[in-house]
Amino acid sequence: MREMVELAMDRIVRHIESLPEQPMHATRGGKRVARSLREPLPERGVPYEKLLRKLFGKLIPMSLNTASPGYMGYIPGGGLFHAAVADLIADAVNRYVGVFQAAPLLVQIEANVIAWFCAMLGLPEGSGGILTTGGSLANLVAVITARRERLPPDFLRGTLYASEEAHHSVTKAALLAGFPPEAVREIPVDGRFRMRVDAAAEAVARDRARGLSPFLLVASAGTTGTGAIDDLPALAGLAEAERLWLHVDAAYGGFFALTERGRAAMRGIERADSVTLDPHKSLFLPYGTGCLAVRDREALRRAHALSASYMPPMQAEDDLVDFCAISPELSRDARGLRVWLPLKMHGASVFRAELDEKLTLARGAAGALRQMAHLEVVAEPELSLLAFRARPPGVDDGPALDALNRRLLARVNAKQRVLLTGVVAGGRFLLRMCILSFRTHADRVDAALADVASSLAEVLGELRDGPLSPAREGDQPGGTDDD
Ligand SMILES: *Cc1c(COP(=O)(O)O)cnc(C)c1O
Repeated sequence: MREMVELAMDRIVRHIESLPEQPMHATRGGKRVARSLREPLPERGVPYEKLLRKLFGKLIPMSLNTASPGYMGYIPGGGLFHAAVADLIADAVNRYVGVFQAAPLLVQIEANVIAWFCAMLGLPEGSGGILTTGGSLANLVAVITARRERLPPDFLRGTLYASEEAHHSVTKAALLAGFPPEAVREIPVDGRFRMRVDAAAEAVARDRARGLSPFLLVASAGTTGTGAIDDLPALAGLAEAERLWLHVDAAYGGFFALTERGRAAMRGIERADSVTLDPHKSLFLPYGTGCLAVRDREALRRAHALSASYMPPMQAEDDLVDFCAISPELSRDARGLRVWLPLKMHGASVFRAELDEKLTLARGAAGALRQMAHLEVVAEPELSLLAFRARPPGVDDGPALDALNRRLLARVNAKQRVLLTGVVAGGRFLLRMCILSFRTHADRVDAALADVASSLAEVLGELRDGPLSPAREGDQPGGTDDD
C-alpha cells in the first residue's frame, strides 16, 4: 500500500509542480487516440508502474489544463489537494454514510459541513441539505422537491420560471422531473443580463389566467455566461406574493457569500427555499462535489423518504440525519470528508481571503480591459467573472464582429498561457474571463491581459490587410480533431 501511494505521489507532485508551465490545452488528435485505446476486458493484470506511466505520460496530458493557474474558461475550481487526500482516506476506510447508524460520526461531520453552508447563506434554523456530485444534480433535486411540495401528484399543469441566461441544467432538471419543455418559461434579461422581474411577474400572471399552476421561480446568483446576479430581493418578493418556491442557482457564485463584497452582491439569497452551491467551483474542490441547501429540510424528507424491510431503522430525532432519507442516493462515497478536511485544516478565513483576492483581480482586469482601445467590457464583474469583446470601428455589429471576436479568442488561447472561453449573450459573441482558481494570482491575470492586448493588435492588423478568413483555430479551445 505504501509503495503504491508513494509511486503515485511521486507522479502527482511532479505533475502539480509543473502545472504553471504545462500547455493550457492539448486535445488535438483526441478522437483518434481515444479510439485507439479501445480494448477487450483484460484477463491478466498489467504492472502498476506501467499503468502509472501510461496515465501520467499519455492519458492525463491530452486535455484542457483545468487545474492550471491560467485556466479562466467556463467555471474553474482548481482541485485542492487536501480534498484528494480526504478522498483517499474515505475510500480506503470505506465506511457507509448513507444511513446514520452505520457511521454516526462521519454522517455528523457531513451534516456539519452542510450546516456551515446553510449558515453562510443566512438560512434559518431548520434548514439542511445534501452533498451531490455537482450543481446539475442539486438543481434536479431542487426542482423535484419543489414539485413535490407545491404541486399535486398529477403535476403537468405546473410551470416554472428562469431567465434566458439561467444554466441549462435547470431546463434539463425540469425535463428529467417529468415536465414538457413548454413548462419552462424563459424570462428575458435586462442590460446587465439579469432576469427582468416585471417580465417574470407578467409571465406568472399570464399562466395563472390560463389555468396553469406556476410553482417555481429559479434565480441565478452568478450566471455561467456573464456572471449576472439576478435581483434576489425583488424575486423573493415576487415568489412570496405568488407562493412560488424560490430556488437560487448559486453554483458558481455561492461561496463568495464568505466575503463581505460577495454577501452584499447576493443580498436576498437568505430568502430562498433552496440554493444550489458547487464546492467544486468557488470552494476550489476537485470535481464531484455539489450541494443543495434547503430552507426547510423536512421538505427533502417528504420528497425522498421511503423504507424497505431490509433497511435499518431511520433516525426519528429531527436533529439527526439519514442522508438516504433526504436524497436520491443510498450507497455512495463519504463525500463530506473532502469538504470537511480542507475547511478544518485552513479555517474559513483562508478561503475568504482567497475569494476576496479573486474579486479584486476581476475588478482590476475589467479596469485594464476598459483602458484598451477598441475593446468594450460588456458584463462588468459582479463577482469574479466578466465578459468583453473587441469593437473596432468599421466592423458591423453582427456576424462580422462575432467572427472577429471568435478569432480574437482563438488567438488568445493559441498563446497557451491562459484559457478563456466564449459565450453568446444578448445575441453577441463575447469573450469571458472567470478568475476563480486558488492557483490564479495577479501574475497570471496580467499575462491574460497582455495576451488579449497582443492578440487584439494581431487581429486588427489582419483586418487592415484584408477581409478576415474564418478563424482556423476554432472559437472554443479543445478541438479533438487531427488537423
Ligand atoms: C456549473 C453550473 C451548474 C452545473 O453544475 P455542475 O456542477 O457542472 O453540474 C449549474 N448552474 C450554474 C450557474 C453553474 O455555473
